[in-house]
Amino acid sequence: MEAAQEALYMLSALEQAGYEAYLVGGCVRDALLGQPPKDYDIATQARPPQATEALEAAGCRVHPTGIAHGTVTAVYRGLAVEVTAYRRDGEYLDHRHPSQVRFVSQLQEDLLRRDFTCNALAFHPDRGLVDLVGGLPDLRAGLLRCVGDPMARFEEDALRVLRALRFASVLGFAIEAETAAAVHQRAALLQSVARERISAELLKLVCGKRAEPVLGAFWDVLAVCLPGLAETPDAQKAACLERLSSLPPDPLLRLYPLLRCSASPEEDLRALRLSARQQESLRLLLALGEQPQSSLPQVRRLLGKQGEERARLLLTLQGGQALPLLERCLQEGLCCSLSQLALGGRELLGLGLQGPRVGEALDGLLGLVIEGKLPNDRAALLEAARRWME
Ligand code: ATP
Ligand code: MG
Repeated sequence: MEAAQEALYMLSALEQAGYEAYLVGGCVRDALLGQPPKDYDIATQARPPQATEALEAAGCRVHPTGIAHGTVTAVYRGLAVEVTAYRRDGEYLDHRHPSQVRFVSQLQEDLLRRDFTCNALAFHPDRGLVDLVGGLPDLRAGLLRCVGDPMARFEEDALRVLRALRFASVLGFAIEAETAAAVHQRAALLQSVARERISAELLKLVCGKRAEPVLGAFWDVLAVCLPGLAETPDAQKAACLERLSSLPPDPLLRLYPLLRCSASPEEDLRALRLSARQQESLRLLLALGEQPQSSLPQVRRLLGKQGEERARLLLTLQGGQALPLLERCLQEGLCCSLSQLALGGRELLGLGLQGPRVGEALDGLLGLVIEGKLPNDRAALLEAARRWME
């Protein structure tokens, strides 16, 4: 298995200090799938203070990022790795939070608390792969299966219901039958999970390569997250998912067809707890998504009002044909907003215009420039303003 030198260096630093340590979770799974791991996790016998001492002695910077859960983040030559003490979760309260975590001395127990078999693999460069739950055959077969009894595991932590769909969508795995049945049966428990956690999983889910079939088969789960989708007729679902899978894997673009399909888009949008910027972008997509912005003046207006990032997003949603016009506006520095107009309010005041008439005149002049009826040139604009005042 390929692994980053820096992560292997940390493993050996822990072991030289006398603590067993393994690479675990997503990095082992992805490496076995032949994909570059997005990040590395280490599980170790060392508790956070001991891990910190051993890693610092080996030249790593160590940050106490999750001491209560046994986690520190170690950085070596620019690579950040989460280093977590072997632990077992205590009894779960409220379907989400273990009442306490208990540190344990055995890797075995740590692996058994993990959500899915393909996520419960550990690897050590000398000792090889540790697979207690049949994770490797499942991974080879492309099957997502809970570790242990699916109903019990989803009851412990309902976020796993959505994580199952996320991994199925992103990895392109099928969900094993018993796990799939439990996903449907335990979907309602997602209501007790923090919105931010749901949102983080949902954004990854919609960008997965198999988002369309997964969301189609588990629309009931999706509707727990976005209640406005609960009553969607089948034909509309199919059209919505087809649209979704035709869009590039950008979370905002892919949420658009779902919100458009929702009976309560604004409530569902707010439930996603996105940043204010992301919410504004989605509101723009919802307002203008179905009104093609295809002429140069339309694109100039859009760019002037919404800025480059949002304009690009909307034009991409609309198929991208108008993107060359956007590039042209940017490259040629075409005037798209009042701040780019070659004439300012002060000059209009000089002509004797007052109060709201100044703003009206500027808007009028900007409109003419954008329509291509007037050059963005100070003399021409002054001349037009004089005529406008007559
Ligand atoms: P990604 O590639 O998205 O980072 P990942 O598998 O690394 O995928 P993380 O959310 O980073 O996913 O979690 C790291 C590991 O921790 C998982 O592989 C899994 O073993 C374990 N894990 C994470 N969340 C849970 C959970 N809710 N219940 C049980 N185990 C979990
Ligand atoms: Mg991870």
